[in-house]
Amino acid sequence: MYPNLLRKRVALTPDRIAFEMNGTSYSWSEVYKEVERIAQRLPGKSGDRVGFWSKNSEGMYFYILAALLKEFEIVFFNDRLTQEEFLFQQLDSEVVWTVTDQKERALLEHVFLYETILGDRFETLAPQDMWAANRTISIMYTSGTTGRPKGVRQTLENHMTSALGSALNLGILPEDKWLCVMPLYHISGFSMIMRSLIYGSALELHDRFRPESVMRAIQTRGITHLSVVTTMLQQLLEIVENEQQPLPSTFRVVLAGGGPVPVPYLEKAQLYGFPVIQTYGMTETSSQTCTLGAEDAIRKAGSAGRPLFFADVRIDGENEGEIWVRGSHVTPGYIGMASTQQSTTEDGWFKTGDIGRIDEDGYLYILDRRSDLIVSGGENIYPAEVEQALLAHPDVLDAGVVAMDDAKWGQVPVAFVQVKDGCEPDLKTFLSTRLASYKQPVHYYFVDALPRNASNKLVRRELKDRLL
Ligand code: ATP
Ligand code: MG
Repeated sequence: MYPNLLRKRVALTPDRIAFEMNGTSYSWSEVYKEVERIAQRLPGKSGDRVGFWSKNSEGMYFYILAALLKEFEIVFFNDRLTQEEFLFQQLDSEVVWTVTDQKERALLEHVFLYETILGDRFETLAPQDMWAANRTISIMYTSGTTGRPKGVRQTLENHMTSALGSALNLGILPEDKWLCVMPLYHISGFSMIMRSLIYGSALELHDRFRPESVMRAIQTRGITHLSVVTTMLQQLLEIVENEQQPLPSTFRVVLAGGGPVPVPYLEKAQLYGFPVIQTYGMTETSSQTCTLGAEDAIRKAGSAGRPLFFADVRIDGENEGEIWVRGSHVTPGYIGMASTQQSTTEDGWFKTGDIGRIDEDGYLYILDRRSDLIVSGGENIYPAEVEQALLAHPDVLDAGVVAMDDAKWGQVPVAFVQVKDGCEPDLKTFLSTRLASYKQPVHYYFVDALPRNASNKLVRRELKDRLL
């Protein structure tokens, strides 16, 4: 059992700043008051599944906490889902209602605007002092990079283990303030709400990522922690490079994850004192499994670091192979359509579908998705490595590499490339000194854009389909 996170937090630090958005800040007691007001008016009973289909907003933050207090199972839908994708997940997750911030979505059945779901109902709350460890806190769909998104159950124990593991790695100070520009419907965003409840640290929420606003918050509002994905990091580093302004020494951590971070970015970050820490995690592990400490950022550049305190990681194979993860942060399983899929082995290992290796010091390197591996003449080629080599060319904006069947080699790599307007880079020559010959794409297809899913991840299976 664990304490009721909201009641415990407000009892411990009622006057500390909890939440800040658009220039307004709330202490924990102010947050609790508003959460209680909403919870008293929300329809449904403990254990009901309720949905959120929305961009980050003050409303979303308070309604999420109210849903926690009501002991609902919160189902998060990606704000960028098409209506059809949403309808599938709505059915799959069996939510009783969904709140949204968009009028046209509220025309769908069982979907309501934040303001309208409350009505005139009033119910006296009887919140429990303790919450069961195996209680489902949230259900989140995977990004759908390798197939149809799967609904992942995330328990209190999962979130607690994840938050504590991160704290043991990064440390907690009373003045800590996390800046959330990641969507709350992703584990990277929602885990910041969970950490702020558990640590008692402040959370500043932005409705979306605007690099200038992020830099201003860092420079003037005492941000200590930030989480980003690679494209955000790239834009922030550009500003840091142009401005050449020293960063506040209290700005301690930039967690970068969700996909590979090219080494040149890490080197640039190091040069300008931008404290980037690479991390490896997934929806099924309620955020970080491995994290690279700042002290290793360059020595182990390209590595996602070592397993956090509660996490166990192994490679299924001799040297390189599938990454298996176990620990109390790993989901008990999927819901709905994916629920028949066995998520862990008998002794608790979760098979991630990612390929990696662990070096002699225990540092994990993520190579790629198992499903995207290219085997050419018996040699393994990781598309991510080839894509990163292409991205190092100044005219290349985006790149995707997939296997094409080949009579002689079995498979060969081909590249889809988006270049800057009017450029015609000679990529063959560029790669000739950078990659072994068997890794070099045999064809280049120049495209206007690469297929990316609602999480902005490259969907290589769509590129493969184009080759058929
Ligand atoms: P689906 O499971 O539906 O195919 P997804 O795996 O992209 O989608 P997420 O849970 O959002 O869904 O993403 C987790 C995946 O992101 C990991 O399994 C891994 O492939 C990738 N990833 C996360 N962190 C890193 C990292 N540091 N380096 C490389 N890849 C990473
Ligand atoms: Mg996955």
